[in-house]
Amino acid sequence: MAINRIQFQPGLSLNEFLNKYGTEPQCEAALEKARWPRGFICPGCHSTRHCVVWHGRAKTFQCSCCRRQITLRAGTIFHGSKLPLTTWFQAIYFLTQGKNNTSALELMRLLGVCYRTAWRLKHKIMQTMHEREETTVLAQRVEIDDAYLGGERSGGKVGRGSENKIPFIAAVETNADGHPLRVLFSPIQGFSGNEIEAWAKRSLAPTASIISDGLACFRSVESAGCLHLPEIVGPNRKSTDMGCFHWVNTILGNLKTAIDGTYHGFKFEKYAHRYLAEVQYRFNRRFDLQSILPRLLHAAANTGKRPETCLRMAG
Ligand SMILES: [Zn+2]
Repeated sequence: MAINRIQFQPGLSLNEFLNKYGTEPQCEAALEKARWPRGFICPGCHSTRHCVVWHGRAKTFQCSCCRRQITLRAGTIFHGSKLPLTTWFQAIYFLTQGKNNTSALELMRLLGVCYRTAWRLKHKIMQTMHEREETTVLAQRVEIDDAYLGGERSGGKVGRGSENKIPFIAAVETNADGHPLRVLFSPIQGFSGNEIEAWAKRSLAPTASIISDGLACFRSVESAGCLHLPEIVGPNRKSTDMGCFHWVNTILGNLKTAIDGTYHGFKFEKYAHRYLAEVQYRFNRRFDLQSILPRLLHAAANTGKRPETCLRMAG
């Protein structure tokens, strides 16, 4: 799809969203379909025979073989939440349709919930995005760069190595026409050969060819069987002026806008992977804005419970 067609495609309008997911029964039906597209399957014994019982408002499936009872939300990202699904769906809507990120504070106001609830919603949804993105493997032409989150500016290089800065690899895959397909933002311990090697083996296919600025550790991408094409950058040859780094520079600029414009002093060191995954998830699905919500719902139904205590531990 041409760049303009991506930018100007219709998203899921608020009206369409409310028509599809405006009521609790609509959201329950959508979650049930996302969780069991071909009908209920018992998580214990895999039987499909069941009956439905109601515990108050909670729709509960009882397996006819092992008698186990499973609520619609049990074992999904919605596990244990007392919020209506309509509120959850609204959170998913705001976190997927915006071009920039939506902070927990903004969500609090948009959804009419308290801050802590908004934080929990946001982090559970971001965790779903993160787990979905963990298996992304880039296979074509890939521009990579070393970048930092936090401090003065995100995605920039000012004050390399200063405190509260989380190093991450920024990688952009482009197609034969030179258009960006997918991005990867991967927090790492530091820019060492070992870290790059582990990242390359996880995130790059042997068919990929990697364009880097010649930082020594980037040589380790070859351990994944990739072709490495370093472009030496120096005081008289800045990467921002070099066409071969156009997309990684552009996307780091967009990341900076998305993060710096939204958040003020979040705990980079603990949650960087989730905030980066949020931008990455949206970017990698930008070709089809209408399907982001159902796809994220499918992921949420299959991610498993992620209690707040786990979410507050470092990633
Ligand atoms: Zn069963």
